[in-house]
Amino acid sequence: MTDKQNVRVRFAPSPTGPLHIGGVRTALYNYLFAKKNNGTFILRIEDTDQNRYVPGAEEYIIEGLKWCGIIYDEGPGVGGKYEPYRQSERKELYRQYAEQLLNQGKAYCAFDTAEELDAMRERLKAEGSSNQQYGAQTRHGMNNSLTIGDEETKKRIDAGDPFVIRIKIPDHETIVVNDLIRGRVEVQSDLLDDKVLFKSDGMPTYHLANIVDDHLMEITHVIRGEEWLPSAPLHVLLYKYLGWEAPHFAHLPLLLKPDGNGKLSKRDGDRLGFPVFPLQWKDPKTGDISTGYREEGYFQDAFINMLALLGWNPGTEQEIFSMDELIKSFSIDRVGKSGSKFDAQKAKWFNHQYLISKADDELANLFMADLKNRNINTDLNFVTKIVSLVKERAEFVKDFWGQSSFFFEAPTTYEPKVIKKRWKENTPGMMNELKVVIAGIDDFRAEVIKAEIVKFIEANEIGMGAVMNAFRLVLVGGGFGPDLMKIAELLGKDEVIKRIEAGIENISR
Ligand code: GLU
Repeated sequence: MTDKQNVRVRFAPSPTGPLHIGGVRTALYNYLFAKKNNGTFILRIEDTDQNRYVPGAEEYIIEGLKWCGIIYDEGPGVGGKYEPYRQSERKELYRQYAEQLLNQGKAYCAFDTAEELDAMRERLKAEGSSNQQYGAQTRHGMNNSLTIGDEETKKRIDAGDPFVIRIKIPDHETIVVNDLIRGRVEVQSDLLDDKVLFKSDGMPTYHLANIVDDHLMEITHVIRGEEWLPSAPLHVLLYKYLGWEAPHFAHLPLLLKPDGNGKLSKRDGDRLGFPVFPLQWKDPKTGDISTGYREEGYFQDAFINMLALLGWNPGTEQEIFSMDELIKSFSIDRVGKSGSKFDAQKAKWFNHQYLISKADDELANLFMADLKNRNINTDLNFVTKIVSLVKERAEFVKDFWGQSSFFFEAPTTYEPKVIKKRWKENTPGMMNELKVVIAGIDDFRAEVIKAEIVKFIEANEIGMGAVMNAFRLVLVGGGFGPDLMKIAELLGKDEVIKRIEAGIENISR
């Protein structure tokens, strides 16, 4: 396989549950690599293990990738030259390769029952052996075609005895995996076991199906998680046994827990309060719901940007990348060897960056949906102005309400702490005078309001803070919020006057 060939990569998840963000990152890197090289990105569903099949998982994976903007060129629902792309629909295809290996003496049939396999492991354990594998050390004492001979094997197969097909790992060979991230990885074949390639239920195992499909689908680069590195020597050997050229391999570093101690898990997300799935997932068995980035209010582009930088670095200070920029800049040589710590704060930071860079009316439209759910009918123009005032203080659109609810509902309570600090005995009198000033302003714009209030403060020699803090308290109900004059302008003169009156009446120390 030469590099001149068209790049073809695949993301090959097993539908055993929701797609973890580590899986999304693998899909993303495959996608970026394909697009960067004008190649093809394929989605292949590896569903040969019926016991681990989880209903809804495949749909979830497809919807998740779609939300992320990781669009596949070939795959379920899209089709392509190498269809079908679901291994359960390719079932018939794998057996011939297992048979080829059997005929070449590179695989054998094994009839061992679960009890026999357990007994072998127990015996080896009792003997103090650290290696309890089914392999060169043990295969000759087991119930397989190597020990019972071809005739007996045939008889048993004809009689319908369940059996598996195992690879026969060669003795004392050095197997080399050239990994684009890790470099040259050497493994002694004696450390590998005779993995099952074909199961008694007539389905291939992951190893066989994966190699056969990567070959038939003309995959040029296998980019996948580091957890598959231990399987890579077996895969390299299978390519050799089948007489095929192996693709290039790149094993991506793990996504680590925020403290760096081990792989990021769903439990870390639950414990520390961040999603580990792109979309919400409802466990079909328990009904438990795990939240997703989408439901938490992350923008798709912020999520992708954050994820891209967990393991890859552009070699510059740039942190904000659109998908197109990621495609332009991505290269496997800049993927690190060591795991990347997940940083929930940084994820929020990315969302904030994307939020503040979006147009106010776009954000206002999103906020309008939230307001509608709260039964607030208002107009886009007004909301757009509010958004421009509060967006610097928000990480998510869902934060807008907390930052701006006072625009839609006059305060009915006032923060006691602020009252204690800012509402003095002379404040009601001062607010009454302020009310008169406000009532006298015709051109009710922030600059004018400010100039008039400053004039009033100077004329009466009162403290700026004393007036402004009490004014803020009556308008918003506390000591928070954006520029006070802009709040006043947006509320409008009548509402400001009403709120001053309500404050004077309702705030008591
Ligand atoms: N089906 C495997 C998984 O679920 C694919 C591993 C690979 O990419 O080879 O991750």
